[in-house]
Amino acid sequence: MLERSPVVATVGLGANLGNPQAALAGAMASIAALEGVRLVAQSALYRSAPIDSSGPDYVNAVVQLQTNLSAPELLAELQTIELGAGRERPYRNAPRTLDLDILLFGDASIQSPSLTVPHPRMWQRAFVLLPLAEIAPALVSTALLDSVKDQALVRLVP
Ligand code: ATP
Ligand code: MG
Ligand code: MG
Repeated sequence: MLERSPVVATVGLGANLGNPQAALAGAMASIAALEGVRLVAQSALYRSAPIDSSGPDYVNAVVQLQTNLSAPELLAELQTIELGAGRERPYRNAPRTLDLDILLFGDASIQSPSLTVPHPRMWQRAFVLLPLAEIAPALVSTALLDSVKDQALVRLVP
């Protein structure tokens, strides 16, 4: 079988139930431990107020990884990690113990019933763009950052 060449994928992490900081740290470790995945960059953690959602504040971060997995394979692995963290989906945008979204998958453009990449809402979300700008500044223009400046976001310094 032909080896797939590795792709740089970008994943957004978020949580606002339970212990979000611990959930994100655990998720980063779980992602790094996946076979066929190498974590190449991770942003700081950020705190944000819920948007189109409810409940406690969110903690968010973005990671970049290099992977031999396909995008659907990576999504399946991320969903397994979500389930392991107790993720439930009682309704759209419900508060959650862990959300792992594929933001970018190399330069792939994917529109399937279960996967849309680039993530269609990422460019409107400060909790994606600020951490992304930290680890991949070339992907985030100052105009984009300016467009989300009204969304309060606090960088959590460890
Ligand atoms: P949002 O997509 O607005 O961030 P969400 O992350 O809360 O919302 P989920 O309940 O986590 O949404 O996921 C709903 C469905 O979205 C999943 O079952 C998955 O198949 C699909 N999905 C489509 N594109 C993506 C993507 N790029 N990353 C993760 N899931 C995706
Ligand atoms: Mg999401
Ligand atoms: Mg999701």
